[in-house]
Amino acid sequence: MTRELQQSGTAEQVRAKALQRTCPTCHAAPDQKCAADRAGRLRLHRDRIRDAEQALEPLPPRYLLSRDGDRTFMEVDPEAADTPVVSVHRDVLRELTCYPYEMGVLMRLALLEAGAFDDDGPRLKNLVLAFCTGAVNFLAHEEVVEAAERLVARGFVRLLEDGTVAADQAAVDIIRRPALSASFRMEWNAAKAAWPGKAMAAPGERDPNPA
Ligand SMILES: [Zn+2]
Repeated sequence: MTRELQQSGTAEQVRAKALQRTCPTCHAAPDQKCAADRAGRLRLHRDRIRDAEQALEPLPPRYLLSRDGDRTFMEVDPEAADTPVVSVHRDVLRELTCYPYEMGVLMRLALLEAGAFDDDGPRLKNLVLAFCTGAVNFLAHEEVVEAAERLVARGFVRLLEDGTVAADQAAVDIIRRPALSASFRMEWNAAKAAWPGKAMAAPGERDPNPA
């Protein structure tokens, strides 16, 4: 009985919290209701409830990143020869898989610092990076701050003396392409060429051997 009461109390708390959050599904702002479904029923989207559950979680523990851990590399602009390259620790990607807002804020911080991205307009031609950082556009200021606080707790973001924050380089770093060693670039190009997936044709380019 007590347990049931506690559970319903918690569910109510989560629903109340969900209403104060931006809905990841319909982007309803905090304190706005979710868009009605086709049958005209008003409801809270499931992702909004999941987001509220995450917001009610205690701060995450600090994560110790190994300095020599595996990293994933992504070109900011795959079409530009001198594009900056984002280097992300694989543990960070794994830890933040279920926390898209934190992932978006972390990437955005790194890209802003590197001058590779600004708030005036989309300068990202890398679809994955654009997708990662795009979620942040819909967030309320408090939600961005909250994501940054959680990233600081994880140790993926550093709190600077002037009160601003910066991405920790062990977590995510931006490399200027000319700074990449020639051997790394050769290995990378070979890896891209050997990728089993079908390469996307460049605009105006036709597949010479259509299936
Ligand atoms: Zn919604």
